[in-house]
Amino acid sequence: MTEIKTQLHSLLDAIKNAMNNAQRQQQSVQLLAVSKTWPAERLRKVADAGQRCFGENYLQEALTKMSALADLDLEWHFIGPIQSNKTRDIAAHFDWVQSIDRVKIARRLSEQRPTQLAPLNICIQVNIDNEASKSGVKLDDVLDLAKQLSQFKNLQLRGLMIIPQKTDNPQLQRHSFQKAQQLFSQLAALYSSVDTLSMGMSNDMELAIAEGSTMVRIGTALFGQRNPPHASK
Ligand SMILES: *Cc1c(COP(=O)(O)O)cnc(C)c1O
Repeated sequence: MTEIKTQLHSLLDAIKNAMNNAQRQQQSVQLLAVSKTWPAERLRKVADAGQRCFGENYLQEALTKMSALADLDLEWHFIGPIQSNKTRDIAAHFDWVQSIDRVKIARRLSEQRPTQLAPLNICIQVNIDNEASKSGVKLDDVLDLAKQLSQFKNLQLRGLMIIPQKTDNPQLQRHSFQKAQQLFSQLAALYSSVDTLSMGMSNDMELAIAEGSTMVRIGTALFGQRNPPHASK
């Protein structure tokens, strides 16, 4: 296996190339290293190579890694589904939550955010292709939810997170990203805190960047194939 430092640098090069091809400004796309299933020692190597932002899907697993890596100055993003009974720990330990799709969860996060911490950064997860199997808010409900979220004082609305439908058709995929980008522009015009369009994963990063992503969430292309898949939460 390639050394992880080399892997990080080639990934950062690929992001830079995609930005150049799309004539996007340098530094306008951030890398979120999606580290679910990987042990703390692997994250530490990536952090030592210069990566600061990590995304996790499972609370218990994330808390274990956070305490093992507490000596590092890392930024943690929660990107998985959220159950009500997990909000207290999420509010206390994460810097960002990208998977907000219900006002109830957001209210709990705001109420439970420790007051000595900065407001919790949040993104609304949008079910951009209206897939029955996917979590996320329907396109038509996003502005309503944003309005409610903007009233919670311990939350800061930063933008949208999307996972497009799986397809081999680049036109369909491009269309999903374009819908997300349009919605993001609308939201950014309404709320000055909105600056993040989180879209693009290992398989569709270039297209997402071409269509306006400001944050790509990359697991496999950085850490390698997740194996065995995560069995429990
Ligand atoms: C696992 C995951 C990713 C990373 O996916 P890869 O295909 O491994 O890059 C990105 N976003 C979310 C929400 C995930 O759950």
